[in-house]
Amino acid sequence: MAEKSLILLVLFLIGVVFGSFLNVLIYRFGEGENRDKILTGRSYCPNCKTPIRWYDNIPLISYWALGRRCRHCGWKIPLRYLAVELIGGITPAVFYLIFGKNGWGDVISYTAMVYILLVISLIDWKTFEVPDIFSLGGVVLGLAFSPFRSFPPFTESLLAALAGFFLVVLIILVYRKVRGIIPLGMGDAKVLALIGAFEGFNGIFSSLFWGSLFALLFFLPAIVKNRTLSFAVPFVPFLALGAVVGLFLPKLVWWF
Ligand SMILES: [Zn+2]
Repeated sequence: MAEKSLILLVLFLIGVVFGSFLNVLIYRFGEGENRDKILTGRSYCPNCKTPIRWYDNIPLISYWALGRRCRHCGWKIPLRYLAVELIGGITPAVFYLIFGKNGWGDVISYTAMVYILLVISLIDWKTFEVPDIFSLGGVVLGLAFSPFRSFPPFTESLLAALAGFFLVVLIILVYRKVRGIIPLGMGDAKVLALIGAFEGFNGIFSSLFWGSLFALLFFLPAIVKNRTLSFAVPFVPFLALGAVVGLFLPKLVWWF
């Protein structure tokens, strides 16, 4: 029991450090600057560009120690930074509790998926774009993990990735003919391919089913107010949420 608690604590702490790195990716890709320095550049305040010293850059702790403000310019650090670090920490710990019995392959593979989905969701929310390096890179990673995890096997991973991609392409083509407006883009097709590669067929069904439901509920006030469905919405965050629900409800594919 004590050993299990220790593993959970270590996973949480490692995850928080990863979360801190995800924040850097989200910021640098979301703002479209300094892309050449993404991995090598030092962290700096997004507002005053002052480099952040190591003792002001400790995940979770610095956020509170600095009173949620930049030491130099007093810029209020958005709550998002803390939320991403916390999700980074909680994800591997929860997956260890639920999937740990299947081995580390499942824990690491599903954690990697959530990290990538978190990054592309927040970039999509800001820019309505999904960089290929994350979506297509994620497809490759999802396939590469298949020998190490209990589910899905490589064949299903590959078929589900293709199915996810072409399902969205089909939806786009049909909508274009019928309604003239396009609710999904090629970015969504690549994200659904990623989800298929990591989760198999259940993942793409869950992502589309729960994702559409969550998006509808979230945007319902705007739909009622504007009396139209034809405004641009970032859909990736909802696909991502649906995919996470799919990990915990693996039977959805059988309902159809
Ligand atoms: Zn600053």
